[in-house]
Amino acid sequence: MSGLEAANDFLRFVNESPTPYHAVASAVKRLQKAGFAPLREKDPWVTTIKPGGKYFVTRNASSIIAFAVGRNWRPGNPISMIGAHTDSPCLRLKPVSKKSNAGYMQIGVETYGGGIWHSWFDRDLSVAGRVLVRDEDGEVSSRLVKIDKPIVRIPTLAIHLDRSSNFDPNKETELFPIAGLVEAELNRTGGEEAKKAGDAEGKEDGKKPFSPLSAIGDRHHPHVIDLVAEKAGVSPSSIVDFELVLFDTQPASLGGLNDEFIFSPRLDNLNMTYCTVEGLIASATDASLKDENSIRLLACFDHEEIGSTSAQGANSSFLPAILRRLAATKPATEDVDGEFESDAAAAFEQTLARSFLVSADMAHAVHPNYAAKYEADHRPEMNKGTVIKINANQRYATNSPGIVLLEECARRAGVPLQLFVVRNDSPCGSTIGPMLSAKMGVRTLDLGNPQLSMHSIRETGGSKDVGFAVGLFKEFYQSYGELERSIEIE
Ligand SMILES: [Zn+2]
Repeated sequence: MSGLEAANDFLRFVNESPTPYHAVASAVKRLQKAGFAPLREKDPWVTTIKPGGKYFVTRNASSIIAFAVGRNWRPGNPISMIGAHTDSPCLRLKPVSKKSNAGYMQIGVETYGGGIWHSWFDRDLSVAGRVLVRDEDGEVSSRLVKIDKPIVRIPTLAIHLDRSSNFDPNKETELFPIAGLVEAELNRTGGEEAKKAGDAEGKEDGKKPFSPLSAIGDRHHPHVIDLVAEKAGVSPSSIVDFELVLFDTQPASLGGLNDEFIFSPRLDNLNMTYCTVEGLIASATDASLKDENSIRLLACFDHEEIGSTSAQGANSSFLPAILRRLAATKPATEDVDGEFESDAAAAFEQTLARSFLVSADMAHAVHPNYAAKYEADHRPEMNKGTVIKINANQRYATNSPGIVLLEECARRAGVPLQLFVVRNDSPCGSTIGPMLSAKMGVRTLDLGNPQLSMHSIRETGGSKDVGFAVGLFKEFYQSYGELERSIEIE
C-alpha cells in the first residue's frame, strides 16, 4: 500500500475505533484476516506456537500483542518490536452519570488524559464503549457498542454573555454535556425499560432483593441504557455494567486542496497503531518468514495517556511476560543443528540483548502560526516522512545505533525521515519508549508521524505519511534479523 490508499484505509480504521476496545477489535479483525491466530495468556503455549506461525493475544481487550515467528527461529534469537498505544484523551461517563439541571438532561463525565478540552465544545458527540451483559444462565460477557447518532453536546456560552478573552472552562462544572430536555424525556413512550426491569426483579413476595449497588437504570439515564442495549442487541435489563466514553460522530476524512491532510480524531495514536498493524501484516508473508531467524512483534497498549501504569499498560508485565514465553519457543525441529542449546533460563536475557523496539507515537509537525515554538532546525513537515524523536534527557529513548539502523531500513524502503528535538526552553512530551526501554533493557528508538493539534478532538496529519510509515515498518520487520548482526554495540 502506498500514498492515499493507505490513508483511506486508515480512515476506515479510525472511524470504526472510537475507544481502545474498538481499536483492538479493529486490529484483531485485520490480523485474523491475515492468518494470525488467537492465543490466551491463561493457556499453555508450548505446543501451540510454531515457527512460521502468526498469533495475537489481548489483555483487558484494550491492549494487544501480535507476532509472526520466523521459520529459522531458535530460543534466544532477536525479536523486532514496534510499540504504540490504543488510547486517546476523552470524556468517560461517571459511575453515576444521570444528572439534570435547568430543564436539561445532563451526563456526568470524567476527563481521561490531557485533552485540549475546549475543542470538545460544540461538537456532535455520541457514546461508545464496552458493555457487560448477563445472559439467562448468569454468564457475563462483553459487547462493543457505538451509537452513531449525535446525542450529546457540550455547548459554549454565547459571546454576548462572556467577554473574557481566555477560554478556560472548569472541567467539573462547565465541561458538562447536555443530552436532551427533561420534558421531552418525560413524554417519551416505551422508555424506562431498564429502570422498570431493574425494579421488577424478584418482586414476587413483595420484597426487593438485596442489591449492593443501585440499579444501572437509576445511575444512568434509562434512555441511554435503552440505546446502548439496542446497539448491543440485548435487553436493557441484562446490562450489568459498562465503560462508555464520548466521541465525535463526524467521521475522519481527507482534507486540504490536494487531499494532503487527514482531518481526524485520535490520530495520536491510532495512526501509529494502524501503521504498526499493517506493517506487520505486510511483512509477515510465508515467503518472508521462510528464511527469518527472528520474531516480528507489535504491542499496542492502553493507558499511555495516563502514564501507562495499569495491568495492561506499557508499564505492566504484559510485554515482558509475552517476551519471556516467546524467547523459549522451540525451533522447527529438535535436531536443527549442533550449536543450538536449549537453555530456557538464559533465552529471555539473550533475546532481550539482541532485540530492538521501535516506539511509535505521533510527533509534532511545525505549526505555521507558531513556528517560533519549534527548534529552528528541527521542524518536521507533513508528508515528508516519519519523524525520529530525540531528547538528551531521555524523554525519548533514541540513540545513534538506533538511528543508523532505522536509516538503513528507511533507505531500503525508500521512505524519507525527519529529526525532532524540542527547544531547551520548551516542555517535552514522553511516551512508552523510555519506559519499556528501561524496564527491559532493550535498545529503543522513538518515532512517529508528524501531526498538528495533538490531543484536540479533531487533529490534522499528512495523508502520505501513513503509507510512508507502513512501508518503513514492513521493512524494519523484514530487515532486522539481518541488520541486527551488523550493528554491534556491546
Ligand atoms: Zn501518543
